[in-house]
Amino acid sequence: MPRRARKLDKLVIANRGEIALRILRACRELGIRTVAVHSTADRDLKHVRLADETVCIGPPAAAESYLNMPALISAAEVTDAVAIHPGYGFLSENADFAERVERSGFIFVGPRSETIRLMGDKVSAIQAMRAAGVPCVPGSDGPLGEDDAENLHLAEKLGYPIIIKAAGGGGGRGMRVVHGEAALLNAVSLTRSEAGAAFGNSSVYMEKYLDHPRHVEVQVLADSHGNVVFLGERDCSLQRRHQKVIEEAPAPGITDKQRRQIGDVCVDACKRIGYRGAGTIEFLYQDGEFFFIEMNTRVQVEHPITEMITGVDIVKEQLRIAAGEKLHYEQSDIRLTGHAIECRINAEDANTFVPSPGTVTQFHAPGGPGIRVDSHLYSGYLVPPYYDSLIGKLIAYGESRATALARMRNALSELVIEGIKTNAPLHRRILSDVNYIKGGVDIHYLERQLGL
Ligand code: ADP
Repeated sequence: MPRRARKLDKLVIANRGEIALRILRACRELGIRTVAVHSTADRDLKHVRLADETVCIGPPAAAESYLNMPALISAAEVTDAVAIHPGYGFLSENADFAERVERSGFIFVGPRSETIRLMGDKVSAIQAMRAAGVPCVPGSDGPLGEDDAENLHLAEKLGYPIIIKAAGGGGGRGMRVVHGEAALLNAVSLTRSEAGAAFGNSSVYMEKYLDHPRHVEVQVLADSHGNVVFLGERDCSLQRRHQKVIEEAPAPGITDKQRRQIGDVCVDACKRIGYRGAGTIEFLYQDGEFFFIEMNTRVQVEHPITEMITGVDIVKEQLRIAAGEKLHYEQSDIRLTGHAIECRINAEDANTFVPSPGTVTQFHAPGGPGIRVDSHLYSGYLVPPYYDSLIGKLIAYGESRATALARMRNALSELVIEGIKTNAPLHRRILSDVNYIKGGVDIHYLERQLGL
């Protein structure tokens, strides 16, 4: 029987760390057997120890292991798996990988490769979203051309500051803010050449740089039968170098009416582009208005806070959708209850942000009502130096924001990670900051507080 016609009963987890463990747990609940693939540096990962089968796919360097498409596909072949879950990062938003997975006869847990390609290029994503009626940041209509005078004219029309962004950018890289005419042309050519080197795509575009926006994103789920729901929004404004540090759901101060409006716009857009799977539509929110910036076509790091306030297991839903099932609820069944906060715990110095790999000599996870810890850490685990420094996520839920904050403070005080440095002290600091406690700070707040 062709693999894709088979029941989704075995899956390759094409990732590592906490998200690999998260996927493994979802598979176990659904009775799906798991194949953990790992680099030679990752033999001791928790999910590798728990998986039904394991395959070593290469040396530590991600380019030769977690980004090695033939190795991943042959791992699925030798273990006779049905599907591949890419997690986040690595190959999760690589349209070529999705296409190769499907062409090899496996299910790619995610959208169709055409959708990934469309959304992976931020310029085509903005064009598609604009056409679908989604409000976007004022900016260039498509990629910037070579005509200097035209680019200067456009920037002047938008009004400085503006931001030059790489069409293929991601992870907070490939962006440059320009405050005045004198710096524009140089910034365009620098961003272009950096983008070419980093993303293999030197196309750049221009947006108005918003000076006090919040980052508010909408979670959607779409099945392959045209049904789409949104699971409320998340506020991810606490950022450093355009990277999220703390997230919460719902976003403080967003009214039910605003939520319904932006949610409906997102659902409609997903229907128009034939979206499938879990996805996140990211917006900047300023002075009561939403402006689309990009869509992530995968599960997000911060998905647990949405799970806490909706009761929907997003990873299990991804798997059910991949298996061809219909969503078994409608928009009116989705209720947001309470408030959830997530702190990203990184192996890094809390002041200098320098990564701090090494052996975890002691690990004590916090607990109690409303506390969830998504982490692959255990005492004795060696955090390797080769990958992202995220070592876990602390999630606190409460019936109110105040309760969630109080529980997060408790959890941070209980958390013990010894042997390596972590950013837990930074989280403790933020959790006692008056403006953060009030809620609704903008994306520049954290860097200002840190004096960056
Ligand atoms: P990436 O794909 O690298 O995450 P995004 O387009 O999602 O890039 O932008 C990441 C972050 O950069 C946003 O959350 C926001 O903090 C900042 N940013 C992006 N575009 C703008 C803009 N037009 N004005 C102000 N800040 C912006």
